[in-house]
Amino acid sequence: MRELLFPLSAPAKSIETVAELLNDTCRMAVDYLRELPARPVGARATGAQLRAALGGPLPETGEEAGAVVRALAAGADGGLTASAGPRYFGFVIGGSLPASLAADWLTSTWDQNAGIFATSPAAAVVEEVAAGWLLELLGLPAGASVGFVTGCQMAHVTALAAARHALLARAFWNVEEQGLAGAPPLHVVIGAEAHVTVLRALRLLGLGSRTPTVVAADAQGRMDPRELRAALAARSGPTLICAQAGNINTGSFDPMDEIAELAREHLAWLHVDGAFGLWAAASPTLRDLTAGAALADSWATDGHKWLNVPYDSGIVVVADPAAHRAAMTATAAYLQHDDGRDPLDWVPEFSRRARGFTVYAALRSLGRRGVAALVEDCCRKARAMASLLRAEPAVEVLNEVVLNQVLVRFLPDAGAGSADALTRAVVRRVQRDGVCWLGATTWHGMAAMRISVSGWATSERDVEDSAAAILAAARAELAALRRS
Ligand SMILES: *Cc1c(COP(=O)(O)O)cnc(C)c1O
Repeated sequence: MRELLFPLSAPAKSIETVAELLNDTCRMAVDYLRELPARPVGARATGAQLRAALGGPLPETGEEAGAVVRALAAGADGGLTASAGPRYFGFVIGGSLPASLAADWLTSTWDQNAGIFATSPAAAVVEEVAAGWLLELLGLPAGASVGFVTGCQMAHVTALAAARHALLARAFWNVEEQGLAGAPPLHVVIGAEAHVTVLRALRLLGLGSRTPTVVAADAQGRMDPRELRAALAARSGPTLICAQAGNINTGSFDPMDEIAELAREHLAWLHVDGAFGLWAAASPTLRDLTAGAALADSWATDGHKWLNVPYDSGIVVVADPAAHRAAMTATAAYLQHDDGRDPLDWVPEFSRRARGFTVYAALRSLGRRGVAALVEDCCRKARAMASLLRAEPAVEVLNEVVLNQVLVRFLPDAGAGSADALTRAVVRRVQRDGVCWLGATTWHGMAAMRISVSGWATSERDVEDSAAAILAAARAELAALRRS
């Protein structure tokens, strides 16, 4: 029987070769992690250097696996950013929790196709379990359906496809079968601060990125509910509202309970972009920021941001599983639908990486309290960073630090150049110096440094060292201005 079960089992020599390769690679990975906190945080190599190190003609014959991996690691090294490390504050980028990283290794080793239950019952069931935990943690309806996608971008696409289905179905239009040509018009309403991925999702779904009614936002980027009321009163028909929990620049939250009430009055579908902000719901002390979010119809969030799951990991949640499934499901004669959740019913992909494993491992290694502590800790460190920087007279903090985002502007001496130019110069200098990494943005017409504290590995010491590096860069740029 054993021979029948394993007729193609590889010779021992071969598995030993694989074991050696993987053990060597594991040592390289561990060395990388060990050195990660001490690495310059930004990449050092230029594109040209990386092309020289990694490029060349397609090899005619294959190379030995270990040599390939070593060459890849050596060639890539200078082009890696220490975004998994403790002093990376650019964009909104979390690190990788150890349990989640290890689960990611297994995900690749197991090489499961998480398309349908039949291709991997384990992947399907782990997604199901992680989905239930996520709903509980984020305070979302227990009956909602969940899909594991590549990021918040595809979570938007999935959720808004469900919205499009449901809104048009109410107008007796089957968009999956009939398409959009000739369909009743959808009134799409977004906030002035909607993330670019919402617009791209609308574009991909044939709803257009220029067609939405844009509702004004306040100084912190929060949608103005009075303006929303006026926008909804001005047009009837099927309506989709896209609100935001966690502005990419300020971290602010749209007033979700007022928006949810207006959505209900107008029978509109309410979608929430909660890429990182929705995680505030996992903390008893921050939960109020999201009040009302649970009343929405769909939510998009990320695992690879605040949950610190390795890339890529996005999560879509839809309150009405029938609409979600109708928008996504696919079948073919050769598929096998066993008695279980087919992941492809809830995402745009067909064959797919088993993304549930890393989310499961992250949630299980942190537990409810650990997730709350991670989120609260990052917010505390963002406030600490803001107060360390604010102590310097040339520094202005532009936002109310309600979450993990800090927007900073640097002010030159009176008459000595522009704050925009100084701020961008400080950002570039910090990036070059390599103690920490963060980027620039434009907020309400002003250049600003964006600081996002999203990683589990960031310590208080890292915050202090980074604030010192930022202030040193600011002093150096101010001194240069004075000399010029
Ligand atoms: C990061 C972010 C997105 C996009 O998420 P991806 O995971 O990069 O696709 C969307 N909305 C907001 C508010 C974000 O911060």
